[in-house]
Amino acid sequence: MKIRTNFSLQTFNSFNVPVVTAEVLFPSTLKELAEISIEKAAKSYILGEGTNTLFCQENAPTIIKPSLMGIEVTESDEYFQVSAACAQNWHDLVVFCIDSGMYGLENLALIPGSVGAAPVQNIGAYGIEVSDFIERVTWFDFVQQKLISFTNAECQFGYRNSIFKQTLNGKGIITHVHFLLPKAWRAVDSYQGLNDLAFPITPQAIMAKVIQLRQAKLPEPKQLPNAGSFFKNPIINEDFFNALQQNYPQMPFYRQPNGEIKLAAGWLIEQAGLKGYRHEGVGVHENQALVIINYDSKHGQHIVALSAYIQEKIMAKFNIHLVPEVRFIGEDGELSIASTGCQ
Ligand SMILES: Cc1cc2nc3c(=O)[nH]c(=O)nc-3n(C[C@H](O)[C@H](O)[C@H](O)COP(=O)(O)OP(=O)(O)OC[C@H]3O[C@@H](n4cnc5c(N)ncnc54)[C@H](O)[C@@H]3O)c2cc1C
Repeated sequence: MKIRTNFSLQTFNSFNVPVVTAEVLFPSTLKELAEISIEKAAKSYILGEGTNTLFCQENAPTIIKPSLMGIEVTESDEYFQVSAACAQNWHDLVVFCIDSGMYGLENLALIPGSVGAAPVQNIGAYGIEVSDFIERVTWFDFVQQKLISFTNAECQFGYRNSIFKQTLNGKGIITHVHFLLPKAWRAVDSYQGLNDLAFPITPQAIMAKVIQLRQAKLPEPKQLPNAGSFFKNPIINEDFFNALQQNYPQMPFYRQPNGEIKLAAGWLIEQAGLKGYRHEGVGVHENQALVIINYDSKHGQHIVALSAYIQEKIMAKFNIHLVPEVRFIGEDGELSIASTGCQ
């Protein structure tokens, strides 16, 4: 197995934080995965492409960067079944599927990161979530030292959530994700920006529009280092929403199937006057208040401090607690939100 020691992870995280790890392992086969001792695995952080990861301290823990590659396709009368290994790039997989006449993932084009990380926070955009198309996930369990298959229901998918982010966090590696793409394609085009596409609406047209919208709206991490939406959109109950709406009638909101209401975290941050705010080389993006940019800081702690400041301001103004979507990693592994200073 390829191993590197005293290794800089600066180009392995989209915040461009120049953190160093004592050791990084690149298992590229199941056999190599099985060579990693349970003790070492327990102390390691699993890194995909680092686009949802914030290294908060000067050093990083041991890193396992799974490097399994490959895509396999089978089909039945009704479905294409696409199995992709964890180190495949997510956007490349979407393009591969569309170019091969297998549709469904087009709304998720251009989301950065790896296939293996996609189920972890159940990536979503433009009206769909990846869980809408996942049949099952193959997982290498560090303790049992074997592969386990999780059905879609067993993955416990939710809004930016799954069993891999909860009880299984750090306990194994997603090796493959298996997608079921119906041959009877149905456009998901009701989302703002996609609802004015010219007829006939095709998967290619949706993908092109999604790419165009994302490029216009979101800062490119290679130019302005960031991890996309820093916080999750908060979900509140109806009574609290009604009270808030009296004070903020312009507030955007999205009713959820269970009656709760999702608010736009970016709008709240903007209303708190933080759009464009900068401190210690990091700041809130000038056009997208939900995105934190690392302009020129060498310390992840500056991003942590800014995120805590944003949380304080939103709590004081709206009585709403913003929960980070980004994962906070210290030198001994993942940090709980509380221990970073974020309440
Ligand atoms: C500009 C930008 C835009 C973005 N837009 C969106 C968006 O629209 N929607 C959205 O949902 N997200 C978005 N994101 C967040 C990010 O793209 C996703 O979270 C993505 O899935 C992260 O992939 P990664 O490989 O970089 O994960 P990493 O940051 O490397 O890891 C993320 C988490 O997954 C775990 N993990 C990674 N690989 C594996 C594996 N093989 N097995 C087990 N655990 C693993 C890690 O331990 C960590 O907990 C955006 C990010 C950026 C920078």
